[in-house]
This record gives sequence, C-alpha cells and structure tokens, in this order.
Amino acid sequence: MPITEITSLRGRRIWDSRGRPTVEAEVTLSGGAMGRGIAPAGASRGSAEAVDLRDGGEALSGFGVSRALAGLNGSIADALTGMDAGDQKEIDSCLLELDPSPTRETLGGNALISASLAVLHAAAAAEALPLWQYVADGKPVTLPLPEIQIFGGGAHADQRVDIQDFMVMPLSANTFAEALEMTAEVYLAAGRLMSEAGKRAGVADEGGWWPDFDTNEAALEMLVRSIEAAGLTPGSDMGISLDVAASEFHDCGTYCLGLEDKEYDTAGLIELLGGWMERYPIVSVEDPLAEDDHGGMKAFTEAFGERVQIIGDDYLATNAGRVTEAAACGICNAALIKLNQAGTVSETRTAVEAAKAAGWGTIVSARSGETEDTTIAHLAVGWNAGQLKVGSFARSERMAKWNEVLRIEEALGDQAVFAYTLSSPPWGGG
Ligand code: PGA
Ligand code: ZN
Repeated sequence: MPITEITSLRGRRIWDSRGRPTVEAEVTLSGGAMGRGIAPAGASRGSAEAVDLRDGGEALSGFGVSRALAGLNGSIADALTGMDAGDQKEIDSCLLELDPSPTRETLGGNALISASLAVLHAAAAAEALPLWQYVADGKPVTLPLPEIQIFGGGAHADQRVDIQDFMVMPLSANTFAEALEMTAEVYLAAGRLMSEAGKRAGVADEGGWWPDFDTNEAALEMLVRSIEAAGLTPGSDMGISLDVAASEFHDCGTYCLGLEDKEYDTAGLIELLGGWMERYPIVSVEDPLAEDDHGGMKAFTEAFGERVQIIGDDYLATNAGRVTEAAACGICNAALIKLNQAGTVSETRTAVEAAKAAGWGTIVSARSGETEDTTIAHLAVGWNAGQLKVGSFARSERMAKWNEVLRIEEALGDQAVFAYTLSSPPWGGG
C-alpha cells in the first residue's frame, strides 16, 4: 500500500473572519500524514464562479454549511477514500465527476475546494515538504509582488465608497520583507492622517481602513498623501492598484456611483478611470467594467493595456477557458486566481497556466471571508505566480498569509528571488 493512500476524509464546521461558518476538510493517509483544507468565501462574486453550498433559512443568516458538510462526509469521503493523494489531477477529476454542474451547486464549491486542498496538503506532508516546494516540483520559484489594500470599499464596507479596493504595490522593494515594511509605513500613515482629519472609522472586511470619504477620488488623494507621509515616492516606490469591482454597481448598462450620486455609461466610466490614471500613479486596475460588459472591457484594454495591468476577476472567474478566450479577444492582460472560484486545485492551476501561456500576469488572491489558512502564500510562490493579493495589512487572517511568505523567503535564503516588477511586466514583451 503506498504511503499516500487516503484512509479518511472528514469535514467539520469552523468559522471565518466575518464570523460566518465555513467548511474544513481533514484528510489522513496510510503513511500517517494529515492535511487540512479550508474554504474561503467571497462577498463580491462573479456569476461564473463556483458557488458555496449554504443552508439558507433563518439560522446563521442562511450561511449554515450542514449541506456542504453532508456532501464532504458522504459522497466525497466515499469516493476519495482509497485513492492516491499523490495524484492531485485524478483526485480533482473525481471531484468533478461527483459534481459536474458548471458552478458546482450540487456539492458546493466550498465542499470541493476544502477536499481538494486537504488532499494537496496531506500529499505534501507525506513527502515532508513545505507546500510551496511540493507544488514547485523542482521548478524555479519567485517571491510574489504583493498588492495590499489600504482602504476597503464596495461590498466589503457596506458600499461606503463605490470602488472596492484601494491598494498599493511596493515597486521599489528589493525583498519581500522590505515590501512589507514599506507597506506597514503607508498603512500606519494612512491611519494617522485619517485620524487627524477625523475620518478614521474602523476597518473594512479585509482590514483596510473604513473609507469615510466624500468622493471616490478623495480616497486616491489620501492614498497619495499616505505614501508621501511614509517617506516614499508615489509611482516609483509605491504604485497604486484599484479593484473597481464594477459588476457591483452596474445595472442594465448603467454604472451608478452611489457615493457621488452619479451615473455613467460604459464610455463615461472608462473616461472617469482614465482621468484617475492620468492624475494618480495607478499601475493596476481590476474589473474596471462589469463582468458582462465585454465591449467595455475590450475598449478599456485597448486604451490602457500597454501601460497598466488590467486584471480580470469576476470577468475571468479563474477559468482557463475564459482566460484563453479573453486573451484571444484582446481583453485583460492579467488574471486574478482564486481557488474557490475554480472549485479544485487542478482547475485553478490550469487557469494559471492558461494565463501564463497568454503572456499575462497572475495574481493569487484571498477572498474577503478568510481564515488562518495560509495555503495561498505557498501557491503564489510554488506556482511562480508573480503576485499575491491578500487584503490589507491588519487582522490575522490577512497577516498570517503575509507572514508565511516572510518565512518562505527566509527558508529560501540566498535562493530567494524577488524580481517581479511592473516596470518589466510579463505582458507586452517587457
Ligand atoms: P470577494 O472580493 O472575495 O468578496 O469576492 C475580492 C475581490 O473582488 O478581489
Ligand atoms: Zn476583485
């Protein structure tokens, strides 16, 4: 019997960073190794992504996971027991066969991703390897350039501002450790400046400062001031990255910025974002138009794709087919990579490979509902994704992931490479 034969899989209910229930799968192998996988949860989700199976009803505001757990402890455990954890592709095809629905509503994306991740962790443990090293499989790795939220908005802050993430990217850092130190200075400076202005009102879902601003652009102004107050140069030291998450304020062809009580059509929103890109050092923009506004996404990429990173999140839903199709149409030049959007580890990895084949950037990303789980830190390194988005620089469900990359950087020692910069982007032949 190989030491990687799955002897048991069990699911349990645990709790996420929003105090909502989520599922954790635990897998044990014949050789004694054990692995756990936890499902994160999004709040601003794309319609093409795998869905969480929730109980609905009154209890726990409908977020209960007993149906997802029933699948984990029932048909998923039955099917995976006896299989080889070392063959992740086979495991994930089996999960796909159990729930072939396009958005995994039968067993739930939450049940599937926790099982898939638990197997991956158990297989790495059986080889006594850290996860990043196990998935790298001997190929070269790099430390990711982080994208860190300073102000949270949109669905993560009760729509207090319309734009979802106001982030920084430490472009001039020479190491991952330095990147985090620069980020800490900006985060602390932003908190201080907001406090002085009487505008510090707590933190949003991902730990970014609660955006108590009068306009969306005021957040950009404050971000630039915070970078300067940290002793850094906006643009060359710290780039600005936005996740517009435009699907959240789009309805029937109209984009409605509730904070400013203004409505835009596609061309109007592109013009507004274009103006911000002229006035502020924005180096990356995610979901600038809604997930079904193909014409808008194409026009935006044509206008700005040569000079900024354009990331598809809701638009691509971590789906290799959607990535390849978008690339063929000249839409986006980078893909956000979220495990639970795809549903299994293998499908997520296929989406990464599709993006790389298109010459795109890849950004491994957390969700707004997270836990202490640090898997994505390992995958960003081991898959050589280049970039990592975890939320802000506060709250331990975020910090656990940043801190884990620090440990990996230390373990790599003089093999550590932190070379990914947006001035030599992987798109456009740079
Ligand atoms: P979500 O947001 O996890 O709430 O979907 C993250 C993002 O849009 O990038
Ligand atoms: Zn997004």
